[in-house]
Amino acid sequence: MQEKIKLLKALISEKKNIVIIVHRGPDGDAMGSALGLYNVLVQLGHIVTVITPNDYASFLYWLPGNEKVIVFTEEKEKAKQITTDTDLIFLLDFGQIGRLDDYGDIVQNSTAKKVMIDHHQEPDEHISDILFSDVTACSTAQIVFEIIKELGYKNLINKDVAECLYTGIMTDTGSFKYSSTTERTHHIIAELIGKGAENSKIHDLVYDNFSENRVKLLGYCLNQKLQIFKENKAAIISLNAEELKQFKFKKGDTEGIVNYALSIEDIIFAVFIAEKEGLVKLSLRSKGNFKVNEIAKKYFSGGGHKNAAGGISDISVNDTIEKLKEIFNEYKTQLLNTKL
Ligand code: 5GP
Ligand code: MN
Repeated sequence: MQEKIKLLKALISEKKNIVIIVHRGPDGDAMGSALGLYNVLVQLGHIVTVITPNDYASFLYWLPGNEKVIVFTEEKEKAKQITTDTDLIFLLDFGQIGRLDDYGDIVQNSTAKKVMIDHHQEPDEHISDILFSDVTACSTAQIVFEIIKELGYKNLINKDVAECLYTGIMTDTGSFKYSSTTERTHHIIAELIGKGAENSKIHDLVYDNFSENRVKLLGYCLNQKLQIFKENKAAIISLNAEELKQFKFKKGDTEGIVNYALSIEDIIFAVFIAEKEGLVKLSLRSKGNFKVNEIAKKYFSGGGHKNAAGGISDISVNDTIEKLKEIFNEYKTQLLNTKL
């Protein structure tokens, strides 16, 4: 770590053009980490641009610095030019170039030095010049905090930086409840509050700020679309494109729905399936030691963490449900023996 910090410190010791990039469908951790780092680097005099492969949920638009973010799918030429001409690229909260979609080639072709900061399993070591990987970290935002501290820039953590990093840690830990939440996480959160992060306000902005359609869509999922496979300790909630349209789906509206399926007693493995932008996207969640990232990788070209993973299915929503039923049966013994 110290060697890498030295290299990074040298890289940012003089004024540079810097681009910060996150994965497609950026979540609270991706945007919180990116804008937290952004708000530190601009104080050091760098010219910094945050670029996302596509748009993200509007409950993240309040994050300080959000108005400067460039969305690749909306401003392709501009994003391409900035990425090609930049000196230094940060890649945050992902470990595989595939998570950038079409933007990935442009990033790979850029000759800029690349620094990857990530907490996912098995990050690709060939993408970056410096890789900060900690798969035990609850969030990328927590690693970004540690790096800022190690660089000796803790004094640059102002209210804006603190609120961004707080958001990243809060969203990726399910509000500090996942097993990845440690004593260290709480110490960092305490420091961020000390630096001005308004914790209660942030919870309201992220979790109590839903559209009427979003809440009604949740009701529909729970009432009409929840399938429980008691004998396998598994559950599925699925939505096709037509249903999403009916509830005027906006990005972020389905976030967290999978957790309701997992909240049922005796359910160990929960899956949420949604047909979005012509793709069948899966969110997998589990309790205890049942590893959903292995299932995501093996069957759905995806990955993630032990208890939270995602992927894509190249068959229809209904066929995906059938495939999942087979997977439930294949893993039945393991599911029934999972201890909490
Ligand atoms: P979500 O279900 O919230 O979309 O994703 C949960 C976690 O699974 C993410 O934090 C990410 O680590 C991982 N994940 C989601 N989609 C993909 C994917 O397509 N590929 C990989 N490698 N990981 C994914
Ligand atoms: Mn994350």
